Amino acid sequence: MASVNGVQTNIPINTADNWKPDSWRSKPIKQCPEYPDIKALHKATAELDQLPPIVHPHEIEKLKQSLKEVAEGKAFLLQGGDCAELFDYCRQDAIESKLKLLLQMSLVLIRGTNRKVVRIGRMAGQYAKPRSSPMETVDGKQVPSFRGDILNGFDLSERELDPQRLVKAYSYSAATLNCIRAAISSGIADLHRPMNWELGHVQDERLKAKYSESVGFLTEALRFMRTIGADKARNLETVDIYTSHEGLLLEYEQSLTRLLAVPRYPAEGETQKFEYYDTSAHFIWIGDRTRQIDHAHVEFIRGIANPIGVKVGPTTPTSDLLELLRTINPSREVGKVTLITRYGAAKVRELLPAHIRAVESSEYRGTVIWQCDPMHGNTRSVSSGIKTRRFDDIFSELQETLAVHKEEGSYLGGMHLELTGDAVTECMGGSQNLDEGDLSTNYTSHCDPRLNEKQALEMAFLVADHYLE
Ligand code: PEP
Ligand code: MN
Repeated sequence: MASVNGVQTNIPINTADNWKPDSWRSKPIKQCPEYPDIKALHKATAELDQLPPIVHPHEIEKLKQSLKEVAEGKAFLLQGGDCAELFDYCRQDAIESKLKLLLQMSLVLIRGTNRKVVRIGRMAGQYAKPRSSPMETVDGKQVPSFRGDILNGFDLSERELDPQRLVKAYSYSAATLNCIRAAISSGIADLHRPMNWELGHVQDERLKAKYSESVGFLTEALRFMRTIGADKARNLETVDIYTSHEGLLLEYEQSLTRLLAVPRYPAEGETQKFEYYDTSAHFIWIGDRTRQIDHAHVEFIRGIANPIGVKVGPTTPTSDLLELLRTINPSREVGKVTLITRYGAAKVRELLPAHIRAVESSEYRGTVIWQCDPMHGNTRSVSSGIKTRRFDDIFSELQETLAVHKEEGSYLGGMHLELTGDAVTECMGGSQNLDEGDLSTNYTSHCDPRLNEKQALEMAFLVADHYLE
């Protein structure tokens, strides 16, 4: 007998061996916040336990179907958004400009890769940040590091960890997703009018011309589909945008993990099945600092039905990769795991081939999505101490990654970028040729530097051109 939401039943539940939503608590854990007030933490998680899911299993299953196509080489995965989303970004203009940017980039990539594009935002919940140290020095004083709006505030007066922020994070995630859903259902993504996707700030004539050309191509294709009646078969008024964040704060993730009916059942003659879905987002990834196989984060994610990302970098031993896959995806579901590789432009050629060979020569051949994160291996500080990334390094890692996959006979199924729809000056280079002196003009990230809207769109064109070659 199993228990579904407290009721004893003989309903089949698909759970990983010896796994429970809280089994992570018995494992060693990295990046774990030390909450000053445990009672306040319990109050916050008790509140979260009662709140409704943010995303629905139906959507999660739909994303899984699409990700299966990515793993099979039939679709491309575009994932992007802020390094650290702030509660303050929960504004219609900020959300819509990011949404439009992702839509524009996906249009460019559809044309370039000649494939469907699956879009996932680092949005509606990307509030928790791993840090190299829990304390930092500001103006000669030791203060708690900023760990993301879900734990503390950037302002020095708000650096104490506050568990009530977990509940606030739920509300801001829900409000952001509501805004995304409303924008999409009101036709922001209407494919019949792709010019509506235009971003206000894109002034660059060359980018504008390239984009207009892509739009012209698509408009023509749609006109043709209408002429032959093929547009009736599909819903071209809307697109899917899914949400994702790093699954870092396991108290939060556990509270939003619910045993729910699997929408794909019952097929004819089958009984309804139940699985544990983490309803905080559609897609959850674990970071470079928390992917130790016998630790808490891997324990937690191995039991949830969501698609999972794992960051893979220079510190990932090749032998860990297969052990990770066997732990997270023992049934070898195609598209369940996305390996998000982030080595840095200078190291990718040396390190990626061994990782590809280990996976693709094993029983996991063809099951994973290889996604390139060209951001996190290319962060550097300029002489003034500002953290930045060079556009050329980012593109170079993407190019090398594409080339290595080609040589190894594997498929680069996606890219993972830190970007914003705003005109920030955080990364150097790109068509505006931002240099060190420009960084201070509009640097607003409290965490990693993001591509601005022009740099991000340009990156999409460069990747698309590469596929067209
Ligand atoms: C991130 O994606 O913001 C991040 C912290 O990445 P990584 O875990 O790869 O360092
Ligand atoms: Mn980051």
